[in-house]
Amino acid sequence: MQVLVTGGAGYIGSHTVVELINAGHQVIIVDDLSNAKASVVDRIQIITGVRPQFYQLDCCSSELINVFRLNKVDAVIHFAAFKAVGESVQKPLEYYRNNINSTLMLLEAMEAGGCKNLVFSSSATVYGPNNPHPYKEDMPAIQSSSPYGWTKVMIERILTDYVAVHPDFCAVLLRYFNPIGAHDSALLGDDPNGIPNNLMPYIGRVAAGKLDHLTIFGGDYETPDGTCLRDYIHVVDLAVGHVKALEYAQHNRGVEAINLGAGVGVSVLDLVKTFERVNGITLPYIIGPRRSGDLPAFWADAEKAKKLLNWQAVHTLDDMCISAWKYAQNESNY
Ligand code: UDP
Repeated sequence: MQVLVTGGAGYIGSHTVVELINAGHQVIIVDDLSNAKASVVDRIQIITGVRPQFYQLDCCSSELINVFRLNKVDAVIHFAAFKAVGESVQKPLEYYRNNINSTLMLLEAMEAGGCKNLVFSSSATVYGPNNPHPYKEDMPAIQSSSPYGWTKVMIERILTDYVAVHPDFCAVLLRYFNPIGAHDSALLGDDPNGIPNNLMPYIGRVAAGKLDHLTIFGGDYETPDGTCLRDYIHVVDLAVGHVKALEYAQHNRGVEAINLGAGVGVSVLDLVKTFERVNGITLPYIIGPRRSGDLPAFWADAEKAKKLLNWQAVHTLDDMCISAWKYAQNESNY
């Protein structure tokens, strides 16, 4: 299949492009490089031996339609979005405009190009603060705690409404839990601009001596060790999940929400200790106050992905920590 990947130079996007190429698909990347480096395309070529087509383009631009005019696109995986939770609280209009508009432009361009298969990059944040864990796809997913999260809720809604009147369309909504880790080659990984907000890139920079210490946000939650529980999933497992979702979209119609998680809750302290053990490193950390908006604990019910996609996470927490550290030592070379 010829697959268009928006945001294909980003963290999850680039790993997915590699797995798509490994599975024999042709890939077209559309990325405006607002939060990714152009050299990612070179690195994908080094890993796979294949250079994907690349358009440096904002998905909100009307030029997007030309990509569909110039290429026969069989399916789209839509990653391109602003994704910093804290920043979204400060800049709600930018987040709503960018994330919603780009999806609307994409749907219009897909319609013009006759493309009817879409895999959308959603998030566990759509389960909101009120559902019990583990989160299951049939729970209400209609609330979030940040403008970023609300864009995911709204886009899920938009796609559901669109599919209701386009029964020949398939939209798979992949709800990710906490992707971490990096490609084994250490050529691709999570490389946020500035000081990282997310836990693993922050740990990587502390381990590399670029940041002084980690602050664990809250040690007094009602969890076994007092720190928050999350469902960490290796980014390569997540990428493979997208290839499976694409194959599902080829043979099914309608809208389907599917969790991509490992299905287990791991605490911040568990992750820190694992990182230290597998990499032989001591991580300086302090326990600080809770971060506003953080939920104490959530993880996925991962059964639906197993059933519908024949997919489950196979990498261990050790693998995630080893690959993340390997990448963190390399990232300044890119
Ligand atoms: N976290 C932390 N210190 C940091 C960053 C994150 O203790 O510098 C904790 C955060 O409170 C949460 C977990 O790590 O419990 C994962 O946070 P992250 O921002 O990576 O993902 P989220 O679950 O918020 O999407």
